[in-house]
Amino acid sequence: MRKPRIDLLILIIIAAGLGFLLFGGLHNHEKEREFSMRTVCMIQLRLIRDAKARWADQNQKSTNDTPTWSDLVGGKLVDEELHCLKEGTYSIGRVGELPCCSISGHSIQ
Ligand SMILES: [Zn+2]
Repeated sequence: MRKPRIDLLILIIIAAGLGFLLFGGLHNHEKEREFSMRTVCMIQLRLIRDAKARWADQNQKSTNDTPTWSDLVGGKLVDEELHCLKEGTYSIGRVGELPCCSISGHSIQ
């Protein structure tokens, strides 16, 4: 009568171990994915910042002027309009301020 209980206990331990490993693996994968998306977003925000600075230099703009995507893309300062991989929205902003993403934690500050 006792043997089945031990087998069941072992089975529960193995299942719990596999579940822990599987959950841990998925959790790490999600964290890596989040880190990658945030890193790409920060790189893109820096590209926008640099493109704004060059746009201001080339067009004698002040820190209160705000370029549009067509100013930056049309002037060949960036290849195309950039988008956050996590579907955040970019605000180019004025020349005198940093561009930002609507996703929390995606910033270059
Ligand atoms: Zn973002």
